[in-house]
Amino acid sequence: MAVGALLLRAVIMGPPGSGKGTVSSRIVKHFALKHLSSGDLLRDNMNKGTEIGIIAKTYIDQGRLIPDDIMTQLMLTELKTLEQHHLLLDGFPRTVPQAEALEKMCPIDTVIDLDVPFETIQQRLTARWIHSASGRVYNLEFNPPKVPGTDDITGEPLVQRDDDKPETVMKRLKSYAAETRPVLEYYRKKGVLESFSGTETNKLWPHIHRFLQTKLPDVSQQDTARPS
Ligand code: AMP
Repeated sequence: MAVGALLLRAVIMGPPGSGKGTVSSRIVKHFALKHLSSGDLLRDNMNKGTEIGIIAKTYIDQGRLIPDDIMTQLMLTELKTLEQHHLLLDGFPRTVPQAEALEKMCPIDTVIDLDVPFETIQQRLTARWIHSASGRVYNLEFNPPKVPGTDDITGEPLVQRDDDKPETVMKRLKSYAAETRPVLEYYRKKGVLESFSGTETNKLWPHIHRFLQTKLPDVSQQDTARPS
């Protein structure tokens, strides 16, 4: 990285089921930046049994957010090791105090907000049905069972996981909205929020791609580019 070159400091935000994972992996494929996901970092700490991992597990198991001071310290420590890279943060910040702490160390210049209607997400997430005895998974949109509500092989009834039930999905979406709306507002006021609204990841992606190309070169195209 050339001295003085501007480094991208981006955050991606979007509710569960908004396609954030797919969009993040496409961004990483096309642009030379480091993707830092708070959820992945916490899971990594839990797998390694670190002190933070043990504390984090007690919160995650209860479906609660990790306290701001622990989360911020963990992320900022990790960020220090990545200072020389373009960055895409994912899952952090989730609260205004986290955003404020981040701003002090690493001012954010771009926030990509996936603005997908809750009804679309609910339809997506509740489309999954399983046959519990075999673990066979059906999706009402992409691979529906031959006879609605029954397993193709045994004819037994299909069930929904608790996580996929409409009331659970709505609860998760509502708590996301309550948590993150103030964070979106925080970034809107700073003038760095870019919202992408739509119902399909594949239709949102070209807009996000075009937007990011105004900031960084697409390195996935460099392989095929011929020298002029
Ligand atoms: P995720 O994979 O982003 O859904 O994160 C999994 C869990 O880790 C969340 O449900 C939270 O309990 C916790 N977590 C992840 N990121 C944060 C954050 N920025 N602040 C607080 N808790 C977090």
